[in-house]
Amino acid sequence: MRTEKIEKHTYLIDLQTAGIKNFIASYVLKGEKTIIVETGPTSSVPNLLSGLKELNVNPEDVAYVAVSHIHLDHAGGTGTLLKHLPNARVIVHPRGAPHLANPEKLWEQSRNVLGRITDLYGAPEPVPQERIVGAVDGMTLDVGGTVSLRVLETLGHASHHLSYFELSSEGIFPGDAAGIYLNEIGVILPTTPPPFRLDIALASLERLRQLKPKVLYYSHFGKADDAIGKLQSYEGQLRLWAAIAKQGVDNKEGWEEISRKIVESDVAVQKAREYVKSHPVFSETVLGESVRGFVDFVQKYGAVPT
Ligand SMILES: [Zn+2]
Repeated sequence: MRTEKIEKHTYLIDLQTAGIKNFIASYVLKGEKTIIVETGPTSSVPNLLSGLKELNVNPEDVAYVAVSHIHLDHAGGTGTLLKHLPNARVIVHPRGAPHLANPEKLWEQSRNVLGRITDLYGAPEPVPQERIVGAVDGMTLDVGGTVSLRVLETLGHASHHLSYFELSSEGIFPGDAAGIYLNEIGVILPTTPPPFRLDIALASLERLRQLKPKVLYYSHFGKADDAIGKLQSYEGQLRLWAAIAKQGVDNKEGWEEISRKIVESDVAVQKAREYVKSHPVFSETVLGESVRGFVDFVQKYGAVPT
């Protein structure tokens, strides 16, 4: 675990899930009360709690735990964390809420898709129904001391995905809506596993861009400046992958062939290849699942949105 002050009121906790640094971040926003953005998975909740202690956060003062979406690496730890935060309520998209309250199906599906990676994350514990707030787009979480977050519905990566806009720093917590930022090598990669909706993801990106953010606080991983440039380059990357996937599907190419062409055409992927190969989680998820998301999308919906 490592903590870092990144804004006047905002702190990053590197959860170091399964000992992996620069992989999953939680953010702590301290006003009169406190907001935590993203919990990470169950296995690193002890690290998150140590981080809160180091940042002198009184557990009773945490008003909100705001998650981008329910995937284990973002919100798997919510149920476990809440046992330590007596007054916190959970902010989640209404379509994700039932899976926080009853996580069995989510766990089973995650086991099927992610296999042994779920061993690194741990099983999610249920969140008491009465502590869940179904988020509404545009809703504001205000904890005093000029700290407030606006909820933004940003679907595409998942059908229940939220981002959060921090008004005083003009920064966005994009969850997985803006890709994965490999901060150690300065490269962005798509995170677009099936059932990825390219058309909706592009609309969400456009929406984030229109807010003219100054910084992004990636869940994977960390604070990054030139937010608009990063959102634009991510959009370009999604369009490039989509064009290759579409052409590949039209030519009846297999998934491997399409993957190979994406690697050949995308400089960012080339730069990230060694990093991803040696990463205990990304090596199994990032390129393969993300390409699959594109292939599935073009097979189902045909056209690439303009
Ligand atoms: Zn993620």
